[in-house]
Amino acid sequence: MRIAEIFYSFQGEGSLVGVPSVFVRTSGCNLRCSWCDTPYTSWNPEGDDWTLERILGAVDIYPARHVVVTGGEPMIAREIVDLTHGLRQHGRHITIETAGTVFEPVECDLMSISPKLANSTPQGEWAGRHERLRIQPETLHRLMTAYQHQLKFVIAQPDDVAEVLELVRALAADASKVILMPEGVEAGVLRDRSVWLAEICKREGFRFSPRLHVELYGNRRGT
Ligand code: SF4
Repeated sequence: MRIAEIFYSFQGEGSLVGVPSVFVRTSGCNLRCSWCDTPYTSWNPEGDDWTLERILGAVDIYPARHVVVTGGEPMIAREIVDLTHGLRQHGRHITIETAGTVFEPVECDLMSISPKLANSTPQGEWAGRHERLRIQPETLHRLMTAYQHQLKFVIAQPDDVAEVLELVRALAADASKVILMPEGVEAGVLRDRSVWLAEICKREGFRFSPRLHVELYGNRRGT
């Protein structure tokens, strides 16, 4: 399995924000978000092939029970099912961070699904493929039915919320599991966007999420 990095930090987003966690970041993605904050797993994928034993050994170094399997898109990684079974055997709480375009029968305690809105579509040769793939209603429904989940949306401007409302309605999603998060990789931008986004969350009954890792460490790898 191609791994970009394994590191120990805090969960920075979503319902487990602030929980010390080991991050296993796979390399490779089937989407190309214009604002991707991990281009070294998508636009310019980096990393080496690791065996499962090596990955589990690297996770075991750290004192956390929580493991976040992220990417890139971890659900397209070869051996993702075996990796999650291995983590389960090691007694870990498993969060998977996914865009929700692929289903695999993984072991998972929290399926953190982040469907990509129109604000993510890039210009250029990837535009058509990204736009076709980014929302897969049947796959989203299947993931939501099979796993404890959260639906986490990246919001760049207030108008983005209309697309969220439409999708939440189409999926009959529980509003308490919907989390809105400001787009941005600079603390100042996040703060400005958080002000109006928090009001939208109050209005719609959605949860607000900061990006704690960016606030604490800036936009740096390994955090
Ligand atoms: S789905 Fe995630 S990793 Fe893939 S391009 Fe979008 S932000 Fe980057």
